[in-house]
Amino acid sequence: MSEEVKHIVIVGGGTAGWLTAGVLAARHPDRSENGLQITVIESPDVPTVGVGEGTWPTIRKTLSRIGISETEFLKACQASFKQGSRFDGWVNGREDDKYYHPFELPVSQNATDLLRAWQEFAPDKSFAEAVCVQTAPELKGLAPRQRAMPDFVGAMNYAYHLDAVKMGALLREHITSKLGVTYLADHMTAVIGDPDGDISGVETRDNGVIEGDLFIDCTGHRALLIGDHFGVPFQDQSGILFNDRAVVTQVEVPPDSPIKSETISTAHEAGWIWDIGLFNRRGVGCVYASKYISDERAENILRDYVGRDTEIQTRQLSFRSGYRKQFWKNNCIAIGLSAGFLEPLEASAIVLIELSVEMLAENLPVTKTANRIEAKKFNQLFAYRWERIIDFLKLHYVLSERTEPYWVDNRKRETMSERLIDYLEIWKHRPPSQYDFEQSAEVFPASSYQFVYYGMGQKPATLPTLKPLVLNVLQKQFQTVWRKQKAFAAGLPTNRALLSGLKDS
Ligand SMILES: Cc1cc2nc3c(=O)[nH]c(=O)nc-3n(C[C@H](O)[C@H](O)[C@H](O)COP(=O)(O)OP(=O)(O)OC[C@H]3O[C@@H](n4cnc5c(N)ncnc54)[C@H](O)[C@@H]3O)c2cc1C
Repeated sequence: MSEEVKHIVIVGGGTAGWLTAGVLAARHPDRSENGLQITVIESPDVPTVGVGEGTWPTIRKTLSRIGISETEFLKACQASFKQGSRFDGWVNGREDDKYYHPFELPVSQNATDLLRAWQEFAPDKSFAEAVCVQTAPELKGLAPRQRAMPDFVGAMNYAYHLDAVKMGALLREHITSKLGVTYLADHMTAVIGDPDGDISGVETRDNGVIEGDLFIDCTGHRALLIGDHFGVPFQDQSGILFNDRAVVTQVEVPPDSPIKSETISTAHEAGWIWDIGLFNRRGVGCVYASKYISDERAENILRDYVGRDTEIQTRQLSFRSGYRKQFWKNNCIAIGLSAGFLEPLEASAIVLIELSVEMLAENLPVTKTANRIEAKKFNQLFAYRWERIIDFLKLHYVLSERTEPYWVDNRKRETMSERLIDYLEIWKHRPPSQYDFEQSAEVFPASSYQFVYYGMGQKPATLPTLKPLVLNVLQKQFQTVWRKQKAFAAGLPTNRALLSGLKDS
């Protein structure tokens, strides 16, 4: 291997492989001899996981960086707008048991002021509806933007629901034709190491050895480079996050039916069901823990949810909750499922791909020496991120009052991290605040914890007292939010109208 990083080899062409190739290629566009060569090797024999329909608002910046227009993306991927998640039945399963985790931030980042003001000025509204524009009932089914707005700009924060297979095809087409990335449809058969422990090349069935300086493992759950070659241990988290399977389906929808603006996550006896509205269909999946219910029972839960009159084809998927002890080892970086997977709740996987490739693209090591230093920083930051995401996902389960064995077991202290146990104790007396989260760029900031914590009916026992001046300022901010909710309801098109308009363009 030369001292300089001149050739990056990405093994795997799923969402992880193509997003990685696209962001790296767009950020480092010089393909001359002095520039950076990027090759993606994708096996024609191994299909991609084919799910991953919910994204995070970061995806807008990622697509824009790669140079894909929003209209092109929406049309090609049958995509729709995602403005957050709705959780049905997570507290007690009763009819009125619903709460939202929207993408918009609350009017104030000061947790105590915000809590006090909510209780003072809008005790009858849910927290989400009181403190941010996005979840008002009058905005149901409305798009977060008007068609005339510039690409990726919205009146409210948003991400997308998308067809993962179509997105893979779009990314591949765009990245190979516009960004100069080399594509090899070939099966990697072996990894070749050099004497100092780095990877010098990968052997392929039809194209021989492909040499490189930096290798990205995007081989999915198989983790052929980071796991099989380097033997980096997988840290199992199934003792905390119990789900390990999903049975998934697609449901056709009438062409003029309303499209929901959020992922609907409905709790069931041993897991939950996602329901994602795309332009042409719904993607529905029953996530469950095989220790608590059988595959057959899960399939029945899914069929009952969809409605017994609806004909569906189902597909079973299994996964192991956990993540690698190191993501970057020598000259190999694991991105995507090879780095780990927790569960589909809150769509945290694609955002981790984006954050990983963003850090890599911005700090691309140019030499072997720099590689080692970057690896250390990367591993520290991402270990922190995975741990925090685990706590955040677990929060959805531990606050439930449901009485089925799965939910009761989820509340046992031995299934929680020390940190989460401590926070739950502290939050009995004060709200989750930005001081609880060390990073400036948390995947789930304090406000996400507030949406879930209050959404599940929890509140600190004592309310803070505030100066009248602070309360007056907040009152005005709340009123502005509620005014905006009415104005947006009057001015925004429905999801269906906006997306149908694009198809006709
Ligand atoms: C049930 C479920 C639901 C999910 N829902 C969401 C969601 O809503 N939101 C979200 O953000 N994430 C979700 N995810 C995760 C998301 O699907 C993945 O993070 C994302 O698709 C990235 O996958 P990947 O590219 O790492 O792996 P894969 O899609 O598995 O791709 C692996 C690639 O490696 C290639 N490969 C394998 N072996 C070889 C070889 N020997 N040689 C060459 N190439 C090889 C394959 O051909 C393939 O191209 C979900 C996951 C599951 C299991």
